[in-house]
Amino acid sequence: MPNDFLFADGDRAPDRETPPPPPPPAGEPAPWLVLIVDDEAEIHAVTRLALARLRYRGRRLHLLSSSSAAEAERVLRETPDIAIVLLDVVMETEDAGLKLVRTIRETLGNQAVRIILRTGQPGQAPEEDVVLAYDINDYKSKTELTAQKLFTTVVSALRAYTDIQALESNRRGLQRIIQSTDRLFALRRMQPFAAEVLIHLSEVLRVAPDAVLCARCPEAGGAPAVLAGIGRHAGASGEPASALDPALAAVIAETFRNKRGVHGPDGSAFYLRVPDGQEIAAWIRTDRPLDAVDRALVEVFASKIAIGFANVSLYERLREANETLERRVAERTSALEEANVRLNRLATLDSLTGVWNRRRFLELADAELGRTRRHGRHLGIFLLDLDRFKAINDTHGHAAGDEVLRTVVRRTRDALRASDHIARFGGEEFVVLLPETDGEGTAAVAERVRASLAASPVMVDGRAVPVTGSLGVASWIAAETSIEQTLRRADVALYAAKQAGRNRVRRAELLDRADGLTQIA
Ligand code: GH3
Ligand code: MG
Ligand code: MG
Repeated sequence: MPNDFLFADGDRAPDRETPPPPPPPAGEPAPWLVLIVDDEAEIHAVTRLALARLRYRGRRLHLLSSSSAAEAERVLRETPDIAIVLLDVVMETEDAGLKLVRTIRETLGNQAVRIILRTGQPGQAPEEDVVLAYDINDYKSKTELTAQKLFTTVVSALRAYTDIQALESNRRGLQRIIQSTDRLFALRRMQPFAAEVLIHLSEVLRVAPDAVLCARCPEAGGAPAVLAGIGRHAGASGEPASALDPALAAVIAETFRNKRGVHGPDGSAFYLRVPDGQEIAAWIRTDRPLDAVDRALVEVFASKIAIGFANVSLYERLREANETLERRVAERTSALEEANVRLNRLATLDSLTGVWNRRRFLELADAELGRTRRHGRHLGIFLLDLDRFKAINDTHGHAAGDEVLRTVVRRTRDALRASDHIARFGGEEFVVLLPETDGEGTAAVAERVRASLAASPVMVDGRAVPVTGSLGVASWIAAETSIEQTLRRADVALYAAKQAGRNRVRRAELLDRADGLTQIA
């Protein structure tokens, strides 16, 4: 069939090139790019004719044309994804085509593009030498190339190119998985971990992020819930999976039911069992049906992250247990602190009247005495003992006596300054410490207290109970090294007040023998 031969001697190709491929019509996959490099215009035309109806894996061809090696180099630089170069040898120079092979492989670093050498002068570039010396994929003499042979040659080159692309995309995908999992495994919380898994899945599949990840625990019998969402599903986290849009909810349910992925034209769902018993279903929107390479990559990715899920889940449980423990410790601590406060109050306050008890008073008084000595100030003290209190108890009852004691404390307090300390010293005996107050001042306060008690009876259950007290005043003197010494003098003064007829104040400093006592001072 001599008519079948494509290439007879022809004209030189016009110095023009084919424009870049227009975007494919909607729904149609991008075409294979094939670059024809030849200085004979006829060759371009005939090649186009021979390949016009070729379709491989549903994709047509888009033919680019260059009439010189230099121009072809530029096109190759600017156009990624050229699958095949149909390359003439003799163009601007005797070996322009051969040199371009070197440039493509070495300078441009393009190992994927299939190069088919077509020469019109086989003597110029003997096949054996060329195939050995140059990284080409086929060598054809133009004279032997029929339309049918060209078709076959191009299809097998496309098949090889597809395999190389698949290997390459697999390699890149694996690289992305290896790089991404390090970053992923640094995460310790489930929600961010799950969201990051979806982002990595989008990266592995090279699609825009739009995905959801649902989990369920079959042992606990729980319904699936959305752990994380990205893209259009960013807000879905925490919802039940059934609340997703119905079509998506159905895909998730099917994935869990069948325990395997569901693949559609614009989205895929994957199933994953986590070592801790949980199950995961992740759905991701894709701009293409996933091919075998994509699915294999997702398998690898899934097997790597399964252990990650188990780790994060374990970590979360540990953290929860730890938080519960910390909460319990905090509760116990605060209960203990409260108990301590109560104990302290019990240890320092008088329960009936709420004023300091004797022990606490002596501590306070000691501290106050220290300050008084250091600063050379005055310190006053008086004792108050209720008069004939036993009779009050006997007449009105013990409860009435208690009420009288509380009222006495209130009235006494009203006569004091905030800096003064009052304490219950014994049954119906009180002591008051007055910092920075001299003898005169202390006696004046004591007198005020006495007067306020005597002024009106205490009302108890509608009955008037008259109450008076006797008070002994003492002012600290420098010779006294402890407050007990001063207290003893106040007690002597109190005794003197009782002796003198009760309901009165006596100052230790002013006592004389007429009081039946030795004057101290
Ligand atoms: P005097 O004028 O000599 O001090 O006579 P008095 O009756 O006050 O003295 P006495 O020491 O004989 O009696 C004190 C009484 O105070 C006896 C005791 O029952 C009573 N008393 C002590 N503590 C309390 C208390 O907490 N509540 C009540 N209601 N009475 C108390
Ligand atoms: Mg008394
Ligand atoms: Mg008494």
